[in-house]
Amino acid sequence: MVNYKDLGLVNTREMFAKAVKGGYAIPAFNFNTMEQMQAIVMAAVETKSPVIMQVSKGARNYANGTILRNLAKGAVEYAKELGCPNPQIVLHLDHGDSFELCKDCIDNGFSSVMIDGSSLPYEENIKLTKKVVEYAHQFDVTVEAELGVLAGVEDEVSAAESHYTKPEEVVDFATRTGCDSLAISIGTSHGAHKFTPEQCTKVNGVLVPPPLAFDVLHEIEKKLPGFPIVLHGSSSVPQEEVETINKYGGKLEAAIGIPEEQLREASKSAVCKINIDSDSRLAMTAAIRKYLAENPSHFDPRQYLKPARENMKKMYIHKIVNVLGSDNKL
Ligand SMILES: [Zn+2]
Repeated sequence: MVNYKDLGLVNTREMFAKAVKGGYAIPAFNFNTMEQMQAIVMAAVETKSPVIMQVSKGARNYANGTILRNLAKGAVEYAKELGCPNPQIVLHLDHGDSFELCKDCIDNGFSSVMIDGSSLPYEENIKLTKKVVEYAHQFDVTVEAELGVLAGVEDEVSAAESHYTKPEEVVDFATRTGCDSLAISIGTSHGAHKFTPEQCTKVNGVLVPPPLAFDVLHEIEKKLPGFPIVLHGSSSVPQEEVETINKYGGKLEAAIGIPEEQLREASKSAVCKINIDSDSRLAMTAAIRKYLAENPSHFDPRQYLKPARENMKKMYIHKIVNVLGSDNKL
């Protein structure tokens, strides 16, 4: 048993309470590599922001859970070295799909887990979530649950179409499960292709996707005042990164994300955790493609991973300061 507190990590309880009150959201960045971890920590320290570093099942398969946990432990030490004496870093399991997986993470240093029973019938989602909550709370680990279905594909999570969260279910669900936060579906989706061009309208030559269902969000807020709400699938898919990728040999077609103004708007509400994964992938890939195209004779990974890390850091800082508003909240 590895307790997250021994690693210097924190759970989400206090930071969510402050974020809901303060009208901002905590960034939840997925990571799989050391460079992503370093970029996240540098961005969080420079902006004095709390941060959630999250690991999907796919990340565990790719990088190994033990290595990722030790990277998160390293993240805390690294933040201190960079001049942040009390960093607020959460190690969170993204889309846990079974009690066993959640338990394994809780037993191995995670400070927060998500149990995603959203594809199950309602009563089964409650039963599974409650079981995880009862186990997690013994160790002061916080639990995120999900109601409603997000469309899109990301790692092992996929759904063809979205179903908005039903506001009439949220009180019953939160009360009976005891979950600490709730991921909802209001029109965000997983991956870098969130909308087809046909779903968008063209404004000044730019494809603008349909707006998020703020009416559903506000209805949920009214039913569960002050309860922490989570948005998944909230990358903006910056078109300059897509263009760089395509300019240097890539082939990303119709990659469309959530406009940042909408996420900024959501951050001011009870939404206190916003998940961003695809934007980091795009920032990393764009920088590497550009570097290798411009320096075809180079082959030292440090040469191209350094600009990749810089580009991710720049993106993380932008999100923290200009979209989520979690800067200077330590
Ligand atoms: Zn997700």
